[in-house]
Amino acid sequence: MPSHNDALEEARAAYEHHMRTCRQCHADAARCPVAKHLLRLYNNARRGQAGSAQR
Ligand SMILES: [Zn+2]
Repeated sequence: MPSHNDALEEARAAYEHHMRTCRQCHADAARCPVAKHLLRLYNNARRGQAGSAQR
């Protein structure tokens, strides 16, 4: 499904862009709450894709 792929790519791009630009993520090795939120969105998109493939 192209729409699922788009959502997945968008979530990944948002996360990678954050990791590149967030000062807090660079200062600590740990992810800031925003990064965690984006990562969760990315994982949800991935899981949604796997779920639709099984259907
Ligand atoms: Zn961050």
